[in-house]
Amino acid sequence: MTRLALIFALLLVWPGLAAAQEPATLQPGASSLTVTGRGKLLGWGGPPPMELRLTLTRAVPYRVYLVGDPIRLIVDLQGVDFAGSRPDDLFGADLVPAIRWGHYRRGWSRVVIELPGPYRVQSAGQRTTAPQPQITIALHPVDEADFAPRPSAATALRDLPPPAEFAPAAPPEKLVVALDPGHGGIDPGAQAGSASEADLVLSFAHDLRAALQARGVEVAMTREDDSFVRLEERMTRARAAGAQLFLSLHADALPQGQAAGATVYLWNPASDGRAARQLAMRHDRDDLVAGVDLAGQDDALADTLMDFARTDTQPRSENFARWLTSRMALMGIGMHGRPVKGAAFSVLKSPDIPSALLELGFISDDSDRANLTDPSWRARMVEVVADAITGWARDDRARSAMLRH
Ligand SMILES: [Zn+2]
Repeated sequence: MTRLALIFALLLVWPGLAAAQEPATLQPGASSLTVTGRGKLLGWGGPPPMELRLTLTRAVPYRVYLVGDPIRLIVDLQGVDFAGSRPDDLFGADLVPAIRWGHYRRGWSRVVIELPGPYRVQSAGQRTTAPQPQITIALHPVDEADFAPRPSAATALRDLPPPAEFAPAAPPEKLVVALDPGHGGIDPGAQAGSASEADLVLSFAHDLRAALQARGVEVAMTREDDSFVRLEERMTRARAAGAQLFLSLHADALPQGQAAGATVYLWNPASDGRAARQLAMRHDRDDLVAGVDLAGQDDALADTLMDFARTDTQPRSENFARWLTSRMALMGIGMHGRPVKGAAFSVLKSPDIPSALLELGFISDDSDRANLTDPSWRARMVEVVADAITGWARDDRARSAMLRH
């Protein structure tokens, strides 16, 4: 739709928007975020052009703009009810690091989409008629220098209230992250030639700690050197440090051809994949039970308590996995064909701390092993993981602020 037609359409629909109208409802099943072309920036393709379609039960006034730091697309909508639909359920939600939506001030709702790089709004328009009113926003990737985070020609309406922050700015709460380099000491983990998994992930964790500290993040390490630390103790150290995220780092071996590429594992006791079981056996060689002190509780009650706590924690862990895979895709890190998996790794069992295990790659795979020992690949991966952690933390706080709202 051309801009003129768009303004015309909005003028047509405007008088019909009496205050007493029922709220328009977002139709998540008929809404989507899709890739419309190939990324051309940067060496590995870069962020692709995308199109966002929001289907509503009636047309509404809206405005569209970009903000920076981090780069986000904001869509403000008047009189829209999200009717309990979850941003994660939007088709294509996994193309971007995060999507949030909700009510933000009287009569107004807001959609916030974290973008995987700098974009411009190429076009924005609203179809006001049957079959269903739909807002379509085309986003085109641009160079960093061309990113214009301000209302532009694409801002649909200029006379709407100025944008307020979606979530109240979170107090500058300290972010504490536990890094857990797998194995160590008597347990070298997987080995290939002279390289041991325990050494590789320890040095990666040291690099990652430096990158996180440079971003103002406090880091607790579950081991600092080549020493053996039991799995239960790892979780205890994380909890004692007040960690808000637990990230276990590994580079395991699996029989030839079974696994290649970075893979993120989340707690899932029901997972019965062959690779997941093989890895769980490798990881859970020492005895342990759970990450919380459940002394005095009978097992059934303990399980219930853990499940109860996990209903809050698990979606947060899943969200972190999406931040990781999204950053890896953007930065051209080779991932496993199905990069997020479930596994019954005991170290992920903390019911109260979002937890993930990242296989940086598989030491048994030739190209992964080459990457794991390549300083430039490692530096890129360190940036990816550090960005994913700080991005996730910001997003996690914004989500919890919305829930409290
Ligand atoms: Zn391992």
